[in-house]
Amino acid sequence: MPRMLDVSDEVRAEIGAEEAERLLGGDSAPGLYDCTSCRTPGHTEKERTSTVLFVGDETAVLAFAHAACIPSQVVPVSEEQLQGAVRSITGGGEGEVPLQAELGVTSGLVLVGGDVHPALVVEPLQAIARPGTTGPVDVFLDLLTEQGFAPVTDLDQAPPSLPGWSVLVAVGKLHAVLQPPVGGAAPQAWWQAHQAMQVADEWRAAVNKTRQVLVYCAPVGTIGAQPREDLMREALDRAAAGGRLVGAAMPLAGT
Ligand SMILES: [Zn+2]
Repeated sequence: MPRMLDVSDEVRAEIGAEEAERLLGGDSAPGLYDCTSCRTPGHTEKERTSTVLFVGDETAVLAFAHAACIPSQVVPVSEEQLQGAVRSITGGGEGEVPLQAELGVTSGLVLVGGDVHPALVVEPLQAIARPGTTGPVDVFLDLLTEQGFAPVTDLDQAPPSLPGWSVLVAVGKLHAVLQPPVGGAAPQAWWQAHQAMQVADEWRAAVNKTRQVLVYCAPVGTIGAQPREDLMREALDRAAAGGRLVGAAMPLAGT
């Protein structure tokens, strides 16, 4: 659903036409936000909203405001002020880095080329900025592509395997997605379940047969929580068609 979002020409010039269209299409805009001007809540689907881009010396942060409070605009600020703005926008404490990612992981079965494959769908709970920056652009897929994940344009073709990565399943539960060691000798967790995740019997049976898992990743807001596998498949197909899906095949850890 298109949102009631104002993106002024100067903001559009800064963030680029593509990102502006994504925002206007509702793909990367939040629903609820705290108005950067009056500090009270607003909603991009319920009231006219201005995009406000704070631009520092090296980084920029996209924020939202009631259109009744301030028009869409670019606000030049010092890098120090920008960090302060980020803290107040995200509600983070003094000195806190606001964009530590939480990943949502869902297990499911996908039909690929006529065969059933166990899959994991990974979607961050917020936009992911490049480490050391504060955004405003979501670079989750870019970061994964740099790590070797392949763009998925058609779900009927399994993504290629990604050397060094694996999925840790133990005693019938999902524990972690492991990535190649950085520095040391042991693989480290790219994602780790807070608590070992229960998986469906069908999923476990499929893993025992294939000994590998297809891991699909999409930017925040792309897939969402889907109650049924056919709905998840539709969401994955939509993401693939929209160029918003990457994937990799990973063996079980220790195999
Ligand atoms: Zn306001």
